[in-house]
Amino acid sequence: MGRYDIAVIGSGPAGLTAALYARRAGKSVLVLEKENFGGQITFSPKVENYPTHQEISGAALSEQMLEQVQAQGAELEMDHITAIAKDADGFTLNGEYGEYQSRTVILAAGSKHRTLGLPNEEQLVGAGVCYCAVCDGAFFKGQDVAVIGGGNTALQDTVLLAEICKTVTVVQNLPKLTGEQALQDKIAALPNVSVITDATVSALIGDDMLTGIEILRNSAAKKLDVTGVFVAIGQKPENDAFAELAELDAYGYAVSDERCLTKTAGFFVAGDCRTKAIRQVVTASADGAVAALAACRYLDTL
Ligand SMILES: Cc1cc2nc3c(=O)[nH]c(=O)nc-3n(C[C@H](O)[C@H](O)[C@H](O)COP(=O)(O)OP(=O)(O)OC[C@H]3O[C@@H](n4cnc5c(N)ncnc54)[C@H](O)[C@@H]3O)c2cc1C
Repeated sequence: MGRYDIAVIGSGPAGLTAALYARRAGKSVLVLEKENFGGQITFSPKVENYPTHQEISGAALSEQMLEQVQAQGAELEMDHITAIAKDADGFTLNGEYGEYQSRTVILAAGSKHRTLGLPNEEQLVGAGVCYCAVCDGAFFKGQDVAVIGGGNTALQDTVLLAEICKTVTVVQNLPKLTGEQALQDKIAALPNVSVITDATVSALIGDDMLTGIEILRNSAAKKLDVTGVFVAIGQKPENDAFAELAELDAYGYAVSDERCLTKTAGFFVAGDCRTKAIRQVVTASADGAVAALAACRYLDTL
């Protein structure tokens, strides 16, 4: 294939909706995805806030989005885009497996989980340290686990893990939980859940397998005997490779507004990877539509 009208980086709700709108406007579209068609939402067991579905799994929702986009004729490719160069005809995208040409780009790369930053954390991933309760919770059936964090993701993880595990201890660094009140109420009613506030994780204990965590509270260290720790302390965008094309804010999010434009003509951003107040499927999809139509308008001026 020669030069695509629009290359979309990322196949989450933002990228797939962008592809849908662009195809319906008659543009050729290539969606590039580095690891997981459907994006982050595929890890959610239950989505209850996407219009038209009272309740649907994230995997089923993204499967439907993918089917719709493919039916419209968008091309999908598995590749990790590591660099983009702008030239007179548009953009050249470099991936681990190939090189792609397009006249415009929509960056819809979403965000990734943050880590605790502890020395042996990487070594214990898959040996007690987890970042996705939906993916790994079942491995800890009947065991004692901790959830690190106090926002919506941490509280959703806690509800899920409380059904599987013997006990769940929530460790939050702030004076109180920050997730939705409805989730806080749910957790307060669960007999096997306890919450420790104003505490940080200072060490992960164990060489080959996690056997506990050390937490610091009021300068005093205490060991929690857990075999699993689920880290849910927020997200980090992976936009660094594209910093020359889109300005990044202090947290690494691509600076843009509701028009999804960047400082580079023909380069647009959509979804969780951009500066915005609410990061959800519905807002990511909305961005995808806006960015695609902006790209179409731009293409029509060339
Ligand atoms: C466990 C969990 C539960 C959630 N529950 C809900 C919920 O109930 N309701 C709700 O509305 N939202 C929920 N969310 C949030 C929702 O998933 C996100 O807001 C949404 O997926 C963002 O969509 P996106 O397309 O912007 O990014 P993402 O879904 O993050 O997709 C971005 C994609 O880009 C790919 N990518 C990144 N960099 C590159 C690159 N360089 N090259 C190629 N591909 C790349 C990534 O692999 C990823 O697949 C949940 C999130 C999680 C993790």
